[in-house]
This record gives sequence, structure tokens and C-alpha cells, in this order.
Amino acid sequence: MSIRITVLGSGTSHGVPMIGCDCAVCQSTDPRDARLRPSILIEAPQDGRALGRPPGDGRAGCSILVDTSTDLRAQALKYDLRRVDGILFTHSHADHIFGLDEVRRFNALQRSAIPCYADRATVADLRRVFAYIFASSPADSGGIPQVVPFTIVGPFCLGGVEIVPVPVLHGRRLILGFRIGSFAYLTDCSGVPDASWPLLEGVEVLILDALRERPHPTHFTVSEALAVVDRLRPAQTYFTHVCHDLPHAATCARLPRGVELAYDGLTLTV
Ligand SMILES: [Zn+2]
Ligand SMILES: [Zn+2]
Ligand SMILES: [Zn+2]
Repeated sequence: MSIRITVLGSGTSHGVPMIGCDCAVCQSTDPRDARLRPSILIEAPQDGRALGRPPGDGRAGCSILVDTSTDLRAQALKYDLRRVDGILFTHSHADHIFGLDEVRRFNALQRSAIPCYADRATVADLRRVFAYIFASSPADSGGIPQVVPFTIVGPFCLGGVEIVPVPVLHGRRLILGFRIGSFAYLTDCSGVPDASWPLLEGVEVLILDALRERPHPTHFTVSEALAVVDRLRPAQTYFTHVCHDLPHAATCARLPRGVELAYDGLTLTV
């Protein structure tokens, strides 16, 4: 079964351009230098239907959103995202969850609640940060996202897609990456624990955190990310969670074969 990945956002938590920055990347006219907050859409065909339709069109089959970024509304409009069958959360940092309120539109369009999957710590954070969503008594106003949280404890299936959680280090904190078939998405990552390497064996297409060249306590640099690529040897790697230090064209030109920066709107079929 092939799946289609659409990169909805390839930028770091500030987004690129950053507010009030005059650097060359923030001022660039190359659309690949404009990076919304990190998120991807995973689409899998259902009932043998092919992925012939444009990205974001839920009629293609099961649509899985990874994280509800701060930019979810802009991303949904830009890529005509109309259906979300499930949401996977990597962790609870603001750039990955603050779009959760936008889910109301999908609830209305689909007339259903949406299941959300996250590790125990992230489920607890979502309940705290979005207390109004998870309040026990139904609110008087209708404007509340309808989501049903599930705690990830191991591999699980969503719409016929097997999802394998891959714990990765984000600073000192363990968060989740996800593997589906030969594809893996590891955003916000500064280390791969010993136990997670076997989960990544045989990955052919990898989207991996590479914030910038300078060291950062919670994100891989480009050279640290390249060391992961060296060990896993995927056929194709795309760096994400990229900050304004890395111009798209110039950075891609000096990366090794099979490695490039992701960009918003990038579509992959795996
Ligand atoms: Zn992040
Ligand atoms: Zn800048
Ligand atoms: Zn983070």
C-alpha cells in the first residue's frame, strides 16, 4: 500500500519569515524559504481506491494529520485540507498543538469527533492547556472542538494504516516520532535512543529535524542529522523544523545526494 505525505509546514517554532527579521532568508522571494510551523498530512487509500486526487482531498481515503500546528488554519486553506480522520501528536510544545481549536471546522464538515493519539505526557498536557475542550460538562456554546484522546502505548492501526511510535530525544525529554511502512517522521529530535534504532531499520524515506548549523540543546544540527542519515541510509531524506539560518536552494546544493530540505507543499508518495 502506498501512502502520500504532504509537508504542511517545514519551519521551526517561530516560522520563517520570523517577525521583524530582515535577513536574506526571511526576505527571500523563493517560496521554499517560507516555512509554516511543523506538520505533515499522511493520506492512505481505502477500499482499494488510488491516491489520484489532489493532496488534502479526504476522498482519497484516510487522512491523518501529524500535530495541529500554530498555522493549521493557514495550512488547511493553502492545501485545501477538508478532512481529518485522526491526529497524531509528537509532543506538546506550542508550535505542535496550538492549532487544535481549528479542528472545529473538520468536526462540522465531517459531523464527527476526531480521535487524537499522543503519549501519556502529551495527553495530560493537552487536557491542561485545552481544559475548555476536555471539561466534563458540555459547554453552553457550540464552538468547542470534538476530539477523543487516546494514549499511545505501542504500535496501532488507524484507518488501515499501521503506525509505529518511535521514541526520540528532544533535549532531555522523550517524545514521539512515527513510522509507517518504509516512511518515518522525526521532528523535534536531538538524539535517537538505542532502543529506537531497530524501529527505524529499513526506512527508505525519512523526514528528520535539522534546525540549523549552530548547536541547539533540543534539535539536531545539519551535521548531527547527517550522522543519523549515515547510519540509517534511507534512499531519500528531507530535513524539517528548519530555521531562517538555512536558505533552501544554497543549502540543498551542498547537501549530499539523497538529502534535501523539505519545503511547505512538498508531496511524497511512499
Ligand atoms: Zn517544534
Ligand atoms: Zn530571518
Ligand atoms: Zn518541540
